[in-house]
Amino acid sequence: MFKSLKGKTAIVTGASKGIGRGIARRFAKAGLNVLVVSRTIGDAEKVAAEIGRNASAFATDVTEPDGCAAMAQAAADRYGGIDVLCANAGIFPSAKLGEMTAADFDHVMRTNLTSTFLSVSAVLPSMKDKRSGRIVITSSITGPITGNVGWSHYGASKAGQLGFMRSAALELAPWNITINAVMPGNILTEGVDGLGDDYITSIEATIPMKRLGSVDDIANAALFFSSEEAGYVTGQTLVVDGGQVLPETLSAMG
Ligand code: NAP
Repeated sequence: MFKSLKGKTAIVTGASKGIGRGIARRFAKAGLNVLVVSRTIGDAEKVAAEIGRNASAFATDVTEPDGCAAMAQAAADRYGGIDVLCANAGIFPSAKLGEMTAADFDHVMRTNLTSTFLSVSAVLPSMKDKRSGRIVITSSITGPITGNVGWSHYGASKAGQLGFMRSAALELAPWNITINAVMPGNILTEGVDGLGDDYITSIEATIPMKRLGSVDDIANAALFFSSEEAGYVTGQTLVVDGGQVLPETLSAMG
């Protein structure tokens, strides 16, 4: 789709499963070298092996500044630099207010939001050296647009990523570094698939396109933001949700 990406290098955090795995596979297919990052090295190695020659695994915890710095160093050592960062790693534990502890809240914010800041900070020296770069954040519709019982901490972290992105876009524009966010709706990952047919059918009923999204739906949006052709797009969001945020009422889908 985008010839300009051939031979470039992407770091994809949270790439051992779900959406990140989809992004890693799609990017490798488009000709990028991919550093497949997660905490569990065995899972990351499996994904790198299924992708093949132009992917390799790296284990780190993106909540740790040193871990993010080591990740950026590994990409530079193995592939000669960093062209794209997909800040995708995230968690979504559920807890209602009243049950949620301050530690629960902090853990979600650190894993989803602080990690975005840390991984972006880690790749900037390499991108600034080249005076070019693409950063793609995986946010969500949950938080920036919608709410969900049990996910107030998660929603805050996903909305926070967009606030971070908008100021970062202004700071990075002079370096020709763009930063944008994909906002997935409900995506059929291995984890969601495991919740069973009844759960999936109930979600499908709320989506105008009557299907959950695929990891490729998200990966294609991330690929666009990562392309040379998207070089004049920064600080923007792309909702990829099959129309899920559109209905005003339960009867609005007809
Ligand atoms: P997933 O299948 O649970 O995968 C999460 C990935 O993140 C795994 O590779 C995991 O590997 C890694 N990870 C978690 N904590 C980490 C840490 N501290 N350091 C490094 N890696 C870490 O999740 P997913 O559903 O694909 O979600 C990916 C992103 O999409 C998240 O940001 C999520 O908020 C967003 N999103 C998902 C959906 C959806 O429907 N699935 C919808 C909207 C937004 P390890 O555990 O081995 O580290």
